[in-house]
Amino acid sequence: MMTKVTDYLENNKQRQLSELMELLKIPSVSTDPNHKDDLKEAANYIIEQLKALGFKTELRPTKGHPIVLAEYFVNQKLPTVLIYGHYDVQPVGPISEWDNPPFEPRIIDEKIYARGASDDKGQIFAHIKAVEALIKTTNTLPLNIKFLIEGEEEIGSPNLGPFLEQEKLKLACDLVIISDSAMIAPNTPTITYGLKGLAYIELEVIAANRDLHSGAYGGGVPNPINELAKIIAQLHDKNGKITVPGFYDDVIEISATEKAAFKKVPFDEKEFAEEIALKGTPGEHGYTVLERIWARPTLDVNGIKGGFQGKGAKTVIAAKASAKISCRLVSNQDPKDITKKLIKYIEDIAPNYVTVIARDLHGAKTALSPLDSKAVKLTAKALEKSFDKEVVFARTGGSIPIVNNFQEELGVDVVLVGFGLENDGAHSLNEKFDLKNYYDAIKASTEILNELNNF
Ligand SMILES: [Zn+2]
Repeated sequence: MMTKVTDYLENNKQRQLSELMELLKIPSVSTDPNHKDDLKEAANYIIEQLKALGFKTELRPTKGHPIVLAEYFVNQKLPTVLIYGHYDVQPVGPISEWDNPPFEPRIIDEKIYARGASDDKGQIFAHIKAVEALIKTTNTLPLNIKFLIEGEEEIGSPNLGPFLEQEKLKLACDLVIISDSAMIAPNTPTITYGLKGLAYIELEVIAANRDLHSGAYGGGVPNPINELAKIIAQLHDKNGKITVPGFYDDVIEISATEKAAFKKVPFDEKEFAEEIALKGTPGEHGYTVLERIWARPTLDVNGIKGGFQGKGAKTVIAAKASAKISCRLVSNQDPKDITKKLIKYIEDIAPNYVTVIARDLHGAKTALSPLDSKAVKLTAKALEKSFDKEVVFARTGGSIPIVNNFQEELGVDVVLVGFGLENDGAHSLNEKFDLKNYYDAIKASTEILNELNNF
């Protein structure tokens, strides 16, 4: 059977590419209201593709852009996979800085250049083309498949959470597959199984009721910028540990298996530092750089404001100063709990001669799929077969809030299988997707879907 699929893919390469190019021509920029109709067009294009394969499709309106729902039901005894992706794209930025217009896809050096090529049209379309190959060669599918493809990922998926909650039954499945990320290196099958969460606060320190002359008042009054700096300096100890009481209470330590797996990841601390022209990589003692980025919680000041910022010198003691502080969290830290602990600690250490106001700005939960879960194991097995290479299990320092939504609302594991590359230019200029990665993704997806038949 698989030779037949392979033949089919070989014989249909050109068409499967031109169909992706048609989708890439549609400027579905979700953040720009002028593109509302383009989003609909992109959604409909995908619907037509799935309909032609025998999927039951629906275009579900939301307060924003519509959600594409499609289902191919084979029979009740088979497992069900839900494949999630998004058809919206990031804004293009200054068009003049693109080598080619972002919505006129072009193939140069075996890469397809267009906005959305990698993030995420190319990756979600690869799954659709895999499903096509399976249906055309076997007249059926190895399992039940649901597609959920939204048009608001690039603006934070404001309507997806409520939709999942409402449609729990309709979306019921055994696992979720998402291809909206990158491989750790070219031709290296990668499963991302851990995402960080986020707690974000804004902190304001206020002293006098107005800015003061630093000669007439200096030495006699508290300086909010000095006080803010002192507070920030107390948030880490000399070993790089975060000092907030209870901060590490719910942290799952990196297991020995994981440590061993991290060592196999093609990541070089020296290269990493050199690439961004760093003189050193300080951080929490006792952990490698990769361990710190992927699997340890962090606290960073993201911005700081206060006093005179203009050219030259002005002698002044500002009335107030402020900072934005974020914590990247790991499982099982809860963003609300961490925010509360952080604010309480700051209030405790702040001197009583200044007023401190701390605001909760934003939070995201962590997500972790157990490495020994069936979902991860079967997907890894299929990837290994397809690439004939060992799978790298990666975590990331970033957050994808929807992953948590899926886990919580549907109660299933989410497997992130990325086929892009870090240098694809997602969210940046000259976005591209290597043709090899597009075709590899299609092939890998057929293997994954076949393997998941054993779920
Ligand atoms: Zn994306």
